[in-house]
Amino acid sequence: MQPFLCNCHTHIGDAFIRLPRQQWTVEELVAPPDGYKHRRLREATPAEVRRGMEQAMAVMGNCGTTHFIDFREGGREGVRALRSLSPPPRALVLGRPAQERYDEKEMEDLLEMADGVGLSGIADWEYEEICRVAEHVHRAGKLFALHVSEHRRENMEDVLALRPSFLVHLCAAAARDLRMVADAGVPVVVCPRANAFFGLRPPLESLLELDVPVMLGTDNAMITPPDIRQEMRCVQRIFGVSKAQVAAMVSDVPRKCLNASAHIHQPD
Ligand SMILES: [Zn+2]
Repeated sequence: MQPFLCNCHTHIGDAFIRLPRQQWTVEELVAPPDGYKHRRLREATPAEVRRGMEQAMAVMGNCGTTHFIDFREGGREGVRALRSLSPPPRALVLGRPAQERYDEKEMEDLLEMADGVGLSGIADWEYEEICRVAEHVHRAGKLFALHVSEHRRENMEDVLALRPSFLVHLCAAAARDLRMVADAGVPVVVCPRANAFFGLRPPLESLLELDVPVMLGTDNAMITPPDIRQEMRCVQRIFGVSKAQVAAMVSDVPRKCLNASAHIHQPD
């Protein structure tokens, strides 16, 4: 079997950003359209963003990462910019519409290049619009994923009705929400170090107790370097889970989740 080590959630497009030292909330830093990160992305030159992405890929390569699942901002052009970098590691790119609304033509263009769509969260969208995006992605047979209840609880029925391929975070989800996710069999990516930056903590123990397939990611590269081995050590230390359990979060679980969607590309 080919070696497989997957960083299951990144945003390497923000690796070029040097964060001013201050206390940030999720809204101030990453919420579209005007969070600090999005303002910096608008101001940056393509070369600046590209350099950051190359550095992030070097960090991933150095720690043995073979695949990463990136939520890429900037519409089709954002996806193209990431696709233009040479692997390894191999990127599974989940793009997003340039604005929070559904446009059939834009979606077709986006999915021509992307492995799917990864959205900031339902709170940033009109629900009808996000439903149309999800339906479009499912029709195309690609991945549809989103951040959910990162710092504020969101309606899990509405989220699960979108038939997501996987969810990210769930720090603010209620116990009832987690049971719903478990019943639906939807995998969840946790990113403990990035959550800790905002004073948040993922419900990892509950997810494992409920037999939810858990994957591990490093989230925004401007917050934490995309070193998945550091993230694994952090999970073992803070959550007291076994080495084998942590290893599964970056190997067996994502392999199964992505294989089921036929999204692990063969090496060139
Ligand atoms: Zn994220």
